[in-house]
Amino acid sequence: MTGDTNLLGFDGLELPDLALTAGGDRLASAATLPDVDPCSETAFADVPVASASQVDQVVEAAWLAFRAPAWRGLAPLARERLLHKLADAMEADLPRLAALEALDTGKPVGIVEAVDIPAAISWLRVYAGWPSKLAGRAGTLSATPGDYHVYSRREPIGVVAAITPWNFPLVLAMWKVAPALAAGCTVVLKPAPETPLSALRLVELARIAGFPEGVLSVVTGDGATGAALAAHPRIAKVAFTGSTTTGQAILAASVPDLKRVTLELGGKSPSIICADAVLASAIPQAAMGCFFNSGQVCYAGTRLYVHRSVYDEVLEGIAAVGSAQKLGPSSDRASQLGPLISARQHERVTGFVERARAAGIEAMPSAAVLPERGFYHAPTVLRNVPADAEVMRDEVFGPVLATAPFDDIEEAIARANDSAFGLAAHVFSRDLATAHRASAALEAGTVFVNCVMLADPAFPFGGMKMSGIGRENGSEVLDAYLEPKSVVMAL
Ligand code: NAD
Repeated sequence: MTGDTNLLGFDGLELPDLALTAGGDRLASAATLPDVDPCSETAFADVPVASASQVDQVVEAAWLAFRAPAWRGLAPLARERLLHKLADAMEADLPRLAALEALDTGKPVGIVEAVDIPAAISWLRVYAGWPSKLAGRAGTLSATPGDYHVYSRREPIGVVAAITPWNFPLVLAMWKVAPALAAGCTVVLKPAPETPLSALRLVELARIAGFPEGVLSVVTGDGATGAALAAHPRIAKVAFTGSTTTGQAILAASVPDLKRVTLELGGKSPSIICADAVLASAIPQAAMGCFFNSGQVCYAGTRLYVHRSVYDEVLEGIAAVGSAQKLGPSSDRASQLGPLISARQHERVTGFVERARAAGIEAMPSAAVLPERGFYHAPTVLRNVPADAEVMRDEVFGPVLATAPFDDIEEAIARANDSAFGLAAHVFSRDLATAHRASAALEAGTVFVNCVMLADPAFPFGGMKMSGIGRENGSEVLDAYLEPKSVVMAL
């Protein structure tokens, strides 16, 4: 630690142990990166950057743990019990986990306590129920005469690399860690350099819950650390959430060993508000579907198409919701929106808005008040944005809503699909036929009708086109961590 966390509004908050460890042994670390509070722009800790050889030590320990009877030999029900014990430990630790996550991300602590940490625990509880239900199936041969007994087994794939971003650090880690551990894999988690704290605390809690050393480990560091992990020959599968560019690099790195890869990447998710929508509900939802978490949400609805007859009314309503947001520090329970994660992201988001304005695109006035310090950005609504404008095509990852009017639903769907991405899409309408037809026609991994920003362990989540490969969540995600094996036995 180089600073005093009390200065940052979280009195007495204890940071987790930042040291790199492999199989329980501490590793010496030369290089570090500063961990910066995005609200005060203050560096408060130096976090180790794992070198390629340190990544190798951690992965080797995870590989040994994968094969050790202490983990591999556990009865499925015993694995379930361990996962539930980790969930119990997280529940008991909720205030500290929330404070660490809020300090790192700049999100309002009240929201982290109510949304992020409970979500991570729910995911763990849901997948904790799976180990005893992962049976293969028995059958007969279909096209081969003779007497055979045939059955399949579902075996854990091996050591998993979980590489995560900074926008929902613990939630997106748990989307990978929970099903991977449920399947019987071991996991090396690589959090984003901006937000390592909740991952480090999670590993401490796993130790307290009784997980054998090496079953769940963390390597902190930057892109080079992630690249060393993604390319390590002992890694059987990489589960990644983050930018499309990094996803492409991870896919390329998987080729020599034919690693299994799931990628949850960027988005530019459209929302369509029809003339018959319930505007009193559609307006606040479309607003917060873009502005929540200061727009740092992969499936945020950042392109909005509104029927021309209600365009002005909807835009004024959304701008008013944006203006009413209380931007403030993570430690203040009254805050509704925090800052962007870093100076770099702030520069990126303001750059998009400045270039849009310079191109003649109108930004609606905002009355949101920005704190003096911190990487804050006001919710911003852009009017009449051309289809080919940069801000309509590229992921901004900030609270910036690009809008355009439409005249008929076919035109709106065509414009919604005119994107390299395909993560989510939204339709607001009272008409059931419109809702079903649009849901079928929209090119997106998830279509939300009259709602926004719902993720749940019950249904699969992921992207079409450049938004990714594979799905997380649902029972579907378990296949990503299991290898089916067929046993064919002549009798
Ligand atoms: P990133 O994709 O570069 O980083 C995500 C994670 O990947 C981090 O842990 C990082 O250290 C690691 N990483 C970086 N390079 C790697 C490599 N070559 N191999 C393996 N791991 C590597 O994202 P970023 O630079 O933090 O943000 C840039 C942009 O990404 C944002 O502006 C936003 O558009 C997008 N983004 C998307 C999501 C999402 O949820 N889909 C989340 C964060 C950022």
